[in-house]
Amino acid sequence: MVKTDIEIAQEARLKPIKEIAEGLNLAEADWEPYGHTKAKLSDKLLEKLADNPNGKVILVTAISPTPAGEGKSTVTVGLGQALNKIGKKAVIALREPSLGPVMGIKGGAAGGGYSQVLPMEDINLHFTGDLHAITSANNALAAMIDNHIHQGNELGIDPRRIEFKRVMDMNDRALRQIVIGLGGPLRGVPREDGFNITVASEIMAILCLATDLQDLKKRISNIMIGYTYQEEPVYVRDLKVEGALTLLLKDAIKPNLVQTIENTPAIIHGGPFANIAHGCNSIIATKTAVKLGEYVVTEAGFGADLGAEKFLDIKTRAGNIDTDAVVIVATVRALKMHGGVPKNNLTEENLEALRAGMENLQKHIETIQYFGLPFVVAINKFPTDTVNEVNAIEAWCEQRGYTVAMTDVWAKGGEGGIELAQKVVQTIEKGEKSFKRVYELEDSLEIKMTKIARTVYGADGVEFSSKAKKQLAFFEKQGWGELPVCMAKTQYSLSDNPALLGRPKGFTITIRELRPSIGAGFIVALTGDIMTMPGLPKSPAALKMDVTEDGKIVGLF
Ligand code: ADP
Repeated sequence: MVKTDIEIAQEARLKPIKEIAEGLNLAEADWEPYGHTKAKLSDKLLEKLADNPNGKVILVTAISPTPAGEGKSTVTVGLGQALNKIGKKAVIALREPSLGPVMGIKGGAAGGGYSQVLPMEDINLHFTGDLHAITSANNALAAMIDNHIHQGNELGIDPRRIEFKRVMDMNDRALRQIVIGLGGPLRGVPREDGFNITVASEIMAILCLATDLQDLKKRISNIMIGYTYQEEPVYVRDLKVEGALTLLLKDAIKPNLVQTIENTPAIIHGGPFANIAHGCNSIIATKTAVKLGEYVVTEAGFGADLGAEKFLDIKTRAGNIDTDAVVIVATVRALKMHGGVPKNNLTEENLEALRAGMENLQKHIETIQYFGLPFVVAINKFPTDTVNEVNAIEAWCEQRGYTVAMTDVWAKGGEGGIELAQKVVQTIEKGEKSFKRVYELEDSLEIKMTKIARTVYGADGVEFSSKAKKQLAFFEKQGWGELPVCMAKTQYSLSDNPALLGRPKGFTITIRELRPSIGAGFIVALTGDIMTMPGLPKSPAALKMDVTEDGKIVGLF
C-alpha cells in the first residue's frame, strides 16, 4: 500500500535543528531554537551575512493548477534535495501554509512523499505562530480604528469608507460581510465590515516584502485604512499605532529554519496566497537563503500567470533579488485535464488530450521567455503516467528546443530529481538571461494591468467596471499610480473565468474593483468573481483528521 505523506513524515529521522544551523555555519547567536527541530533565525542575520557571495536563485512555478494536482512544493523540495545529492549547497525557501486550505481542500504546503519539509504536522498547523501574530496585529489595528471612532473620531473617519478588514486564518464565508457595533452606544458605532483570510491581508504582504524591522514599521505606518468624510485617506501613522503593531510582529519577522526529509535546510517564512495576494515567501527568507546557499530553490504559488508574475514584477523589485533560472512544473494528469479530460478519467492514456493540454504549458513558457529567464520544464511523474505519454511530452519539448527533465522526487526523494538538478545547473551555467519585467513603475495603473493581461494571460485587453474607473482616476490623483499591481485572479484559468482551461483566446479581463495596499506597496486589482475570504468545500479535508489517544496524528494528508 502507498504510504501517506504523514506516514512517510512520521518515519523520517530528523536531525536536531542545531546540526542544520551548524551545517550553514551559523553561530549560536544567529538563531534561537523553537523546540528540537525548528528554529527562528535572528533578524540581524541578513546584515551580518551582507558580504557573503550571492547564491543562484531558482524559481519554481507551474502550469495552471487543476484538481489533478501539480506538486510544485514537492518538486521544490525534491530539487533542493537533488542539488545536495550532486554536491551543491542548496537552501530551500518556501511559504508557510494557511489553515484555510489545510482544513479545506488542498492539503498541506509542505511538499509530499519523499520530498517534504518537516515536521510537517507543525508546519501545516500552528508552526511557530507567525500567522497568529499577523492575525493579532491585523485585528489590533481593526480594534484601534473602531475605538477611535467610538471615542469621538478626532480624525473624522467615515465609517462607511473603511477599507481595512478584520482577518482570520480559516476559510469562513459567513464572515465575508458582516455588521459590527450593534447594541447601542456602549458597543461602538455600527458599520458594515468583513473578514479576509489572513494570507490575503496587507500585514502578511508587508511582512513578506519588508527588508528589516524598520522597513516593516515604515510600511505598517503607511497602511491606508480608509477615508475621512472629506474623502481624504487616513493612514496608520495618523492613528499612531505603527509601534504597537510592529511590536506584535517582532518575532514573526524572523525567518523559520527547518529541514527536509533528507536534512536539506529549508527556510519557511510568510505565506500570502498567489491568487488573492502576491504569493511568495518573505524577502528576508529568500535573501537569507541567497547568502547561505550556493543555490536557492524557491516557489511562487499557483501557475506562472500568478505567483511567478508577482515574484518577478513585485517581490524581486522590492527586494532587489536576481533570478537565475525558472523551473516550470507540469504533470501528465493536469495537462490531460487542460486538454478536456474529466477528473475521473485521468488514469487512461489519452495522447490527443495531452497534446491539446500542452497549450497551457506553452503559454506559461512564453511568459517566462518574455521575462528573459532561462527555464527547465519539470514533469512531476505520477504512477499512472504511461510510457507513451511521457515520450510525447519529451518529444514535444525537444521539437521546440525546450529543456525538459522527468522528476520522481515524490517517490524517490532527491535521487528522483538528479536529472532536473543537473539540467538546472547547466542552464544557469550557460548564463543566457536577459531579464526584463512586464511593466515599468512609471506606467499608469491602467497600462500596468493591460500589459499583465495581454502579455501574461494572453487576453485581448482589460475592461474596468465603473467603480474601478473612478478608483483609477482617484488613485492616480493620490500619487499611487507608480505602485506595482497585484492581480487577484482565479488560479484555474489564464482568464478570469475558472471554467476556461487550456489556453483560452479572445477574452478580456474584467477589473471589478481596486484596493490600495499602500503599506505593502501595491494596488490590488480584483478580477472576475475572486474573493479575499474563501469558503470550505462540501466535504472539507478536516473530516479525515484526528489525533489518537496516544497522540498520533492521522489524516493530515
Ligand atoms: P502544489 O505545490 O502544486 O500545490 P504539492 O507539492 O503541495 O502541490 O502537492 C499536492 C499533493 O500532491 C501532495 O499531497 C503530494 O503528496 C501529492 N503529489 C505531488 N506529487 C506527486 C506525485 N508525483 N505522485 C503522487 N502524489 C504527488
